[in-house]
Amino acid sequence: MQDDAPVMDTGILPWHVEIARTWLSSRERFAHAWLIHGATGIGKLQFARACASSMLCENPQGHLACGACDACLWLRHGNHPDFRALRPEAIAATEGPFVAAEDAAPRSKTLSRDIRIEQVRALETWLNTATHRGGDRIVLLYPAEALNAVSANALLKILEEPPAHTVFLIVADAPDRLLPTLVSRCRRLPLAPPAPDAALQWLRAEGVKDAAAYLAAAGGAPLAAARLAESGSEACPGWLRRWLQALAAGRAGAVVPELVTDLEKQPAEQWLDAFQRVLTDLACVQAGAPARYYPGLANLLAEAASRVSRVQVTQTARWLTSQQRVSRHPLNPGLFTHAVLLRVSGLAAA
Ligand SMILES: [Zn+2]
Repeated sequence: MQDDAPVMDTGILPWHVEIARTWLSSRERFAHAWLIHGATGIGKLQFARACASSMLCENPQGHLACGACDACLWLRHGNHPDFRALRPEAIAATEGPFVAAEDAAPRSKTLSRDIRIEQVRALETWLNTATHRGGDRIVLLYPAEALNAVSANALLKILEEPPAHTVFLIVADAPDRLLPTLVSRCRRLPLAPPAPDAALQWLRAEGVKDAAAYLAAAGGAPLAAARLAESGSEACPGWLRRWLQALAAGRAGAVVPELVTDLEKQPAEQWLDAFQRVLTDLACVQAGAPARYYPGLANLLAEAASRVSRVQVTQTARWLTSQQRVSRHPLNPGLFTHAVLLRVSGLAAA
C-alpha cells in the first residue's frame, strides 16, 4: 500500500464524541438498521464512519475506535472484510481507493448518481457469507436519497428479513424524501448541528480564515462551511453582493443580464440556495432580527429590506423552493437562469 494513498477518515468530530459514546455504549440493544439524519454539512457521514470504525475495532477505547488495531487500519484503507460502503459511483470516484471491489469498475463513462440495483444485489451475496472476524458486519449507505425506486425496494426486502450480525448505517439529509416503508424499517438517530463555539473552534483549527462568516453562510453547518471556504468562493459570493447592492439602490433589474452570464455556468442548486439565504436574511431584518446567513452585509440588507414588501419576500422565497425541483433538469439553463433572476429582481417593483 502506498503511503500517500488517500485513506478513509474515520476520526470522530469533536461535537460527536459524546453522542457517539452514548450510542455505542448501548450496542447490545442495537437495531439492525439506523437512519442517521440531520442538516447537510454537519458531519453525519464522518459520524457514521467513525462509529463503523468503533464497532469493528478490536480494542475500543471508551467505546471509540483505537485507530491502531488491524481492524482500524483495514477500515481506513477500505479493505476490512466485514465492511461495505454503498454509494453512487459518482461519489465513489471522488473517494480514491476506498472502493469495494464489486463496484470498482464503472460500467459506463457517465458515473451514476444513483445507488444502483446491481450494488444492492452484490451486497446480498456478501451478506449470505459468514462474517470474517466473528463480530458484526457493517453496511454504510449514503446518501440514502440516491436510492432509486428499484434499489430502495431491494434494500427494503433485505431489511425486512435482517441478516444476523449485520448493522446498516444509512445516512440521509432529508428522511422525508425517502420511501416511507424504508424509513419505518430503521431506528432514527437524529444529529443536531454543533454549538457555534464548537464549530468555530474546529473551523479555525482546520485553518479556515474568516470562519464566522463562512459558518453563518453555511447556516451553522461546519463541514459545509469548510467546503465553501476550500472552494475559494467568498462567504457571500460576489455576484450576490452585486445583486443586493442593486436591489438596495432600487435597480435590481439592471444587473440581470450580467448575472445571467455569470450564473448560467454555475450549478443552479447552489445559486438558488444563495438566493434563498439572502431572502431569509431580508425576512429576518424586516422582522427586526439579525441576518442569519450574511451578517457581514447588515447595512446592505437593511437598505434592501426597506425597499421590498414582506409579502413579496415570503412569496418569492416559496417560489424559489418550487424552482429547486426544476433546477436539476432545466430544459434550457440560460432561460431558466433568466426567469429566476427576473422574478427575484422583480421584488423591488412591488
Ligand atoms: Zn482499533
